[in-house]
Amino acid sequence: MINKELFFSFLDENYPDAHCELTYKKDYEFLIAVMLSAQTTDKSVNKATDILFSRYKNLEQLANAKLEDVEDCIKLLGMYKVKAKNVIGIAKELIKVGGVVPNDPDFLVTLPGVGNKTKNCVLAEIYKEPFIAVDTHVQRISKRLGICKNNDSVETMEKKLVKFIPEDRLIKTGHQIIWFGRRMCKAQSPSCENCKLCGFCKK
Ligand code: SF4
Repeated sequence: MINKELFFSFLDENYPDAHCELTYKKDYEFLIAVMLSAQTTDKSVNKATDILFSRYKNLEQLANAKLEDVEDCIKLLGMYKVKAKNVIGIAKELIKVGGVVPNDPDFLVTLPGVGNKTKNCVLAEIYKEPFIAVDTHVQRISKRLGICKNNDSVETMEKKLVKFIPEDRLIKTGHQIIWFGRRMCKAQSPSCENCKLCGFCKK
C-alpha cells in the first residue's frame, strides 16, 4: 500500500488548489449539476447548467418547467431525458422542504437521480462535511495504489478511504485524487514516467 505521508505530500505539491470543477451559484444548482454529471464530463455539465440556470432562475421555475424544454437545455448530456425528469423532480422535492438543500444524508438520497456519490459530493461541498465521493478516478487510483482491492465494492472502498485519509483532509484529498486522475493517472495511458508514486503502484 502507498505510504500515506508520500501520497499526501505528492498531492499537496501537485494539486494544492484542487477543488470541484462544476460551476454553480446556489446550493440547488450544485446538487443538480452533480446529478447531471453521471457518466459525463464536468465541462459538458457546466455548458448545460449555464443554459439551464439562465433559462430557469429559481426552483419554482424549474419545478414548473416543461419537460421538453428542460430536455432541450441539457440535450448535450448523455441520458438527458432521464436527467431532465430528475431536474424537475428535485426542484419539486426541494420546494417541499423550504427551498434549501438540507444537511440531511437520508433525505438527499431520496431525491430523484441522487445516490450515495452525489449525496457525498453535496454534503462535502455545501456543508463541508467530511465525505468523499468515490468516483471513477478515486476508484481507479485507490486500487492502483493498493488502498483498495480490485474486487472491493464502492461501499467498501469508501470505508477504506475514510479510514486511510485523515478526516480533516478528506474533502481536499478527494478533489486532489480526482485532479490527479484527470491530469496524470488517467485510465488509458497514464503519465507514469513522471509519477513519483510509481514505486507503490500496481499498474
Ligand atoms: S505510476 Fe502511473 S498508474 Fe501508477 S499512480 Fe503513477 S501515474 Fe498512476
